[in-house]
Amino acid sequence: MAFRQPDDYPQSFRTRNQWIRAGRGSRTLPRIERPVSMFLEQERNRHGALAEAATILLVNRECPWTCFMCDLWQNTLEGTVPAGAIPRQIQYALSHLEVPGSREARQSMQLKLYNSGSFFDPKAIPKEDDGSIAELVQDFDTVVVESHPRLIGERCFRWNDRLEPHLEVAMGLETVHPGSLEALNKGFGLSDFERASQRLGAGGVGLRVFLMVNPPFIPPADQEQWLHRSVDAALELGASTLSLIPTRYQGGRMKAMLHAGLVEATTLRQLEDGLDWAIHRTQRRVFADLWDLSALSQCSHCFGERRARLEAMNTQQIVLDRVTCLHCHGE
Ligand code: SF4
Ligand SMILES: [Zn+2]
Repeated sequence: MAFRQPDDYPQSFRTRNQWIRAGRGSRTLPRIERPVSMFLEQERNRHGALAEAATILLVNRECPWTCFMCDLWQNTLEGTVPAGAIPRQIQYALSHLEVPGSREARQSMQLKLYNSGSFFDPKAIPKEDDGSIAELVQDFDTVVVESHPRLIGERCFRWNDRLEPHLEVAMGLETVHPGSLEALNKGFGLSDFERASQRLGAGGVGLRVFLMVNPPFIPPADQEQWLHRSVDAALELGASTLSLIPTRYQGGRMKAMLHAGLVEATTLRQLEDGLDWAIHRTQRRVFADLWDLSALSQCSHCFGERRARLEAMNTQQIVLDRVTCLHCHGE
């Protein structure tokens, strides 16, 4: 299959933003006093122990970037939330999840504050809330927030100074394939990502890197080698944690690419291959993102077992035997 961009894909950043936005659907119109979602899961923590992690998906203003594959804008607002709304969302989530209030219990826990954008974007998370958010999260072992590399700066390090927990910043590198990274319209180049990673490392802040499995704009035959290169690059940049995210061609321009035959759908096998390889490669934590995993495989004979294997590998960080299936041959 020939690799192509859509015929009408604009080449300039500004017109590309408009073109990507024109292909979007509508928002969910979330309420500002409640997070979009919140959940508890078990995750291997930075000390190597399996521990509880609370994830809160905060409601806030839409990210200012317009990445080609992003659907996170759906649960965002057009305007900035008033000061105090984000701390109230965090309080609501912690009590709703029944996260224990004691310092002792929280000291083995991770807290992920994900906001469908950048935590350090002042239009997303008002700066006035930095102090009260720091107070709310003070007893956790680790706090993870996400950010675009261009927003790693003074606010990040000042906030880290106020925190007792270890701060980890998650950044979406997606791929180091230069053509794909550019066409994804991330608004940064590899050198920007490197600079931000180095700053985090120098400031004692941890780095979690998101990588896409089977991103668009890379020929199918080259996907595997570019995922390997991307894993190696992220490790070299000091990532303590990698998260492999299967690319979902489900909405807007992404779906249109799939329908036009410009990409091949991501398979469960690609995610399994990537996770096996990366866990072999490093002692650092590598997780497969298992959200909506059933979209990757239609095989009712093996899907449950394969999902269970990936869950077990996420928690144990070892490569387990592959599940064989005579029906789909492991696709
Ligand atoms: S930077 Fe992140 S949240 Fe913003 S558009 Fe890109 S992928 Fe989406
Ligand atoms: Zn099968």
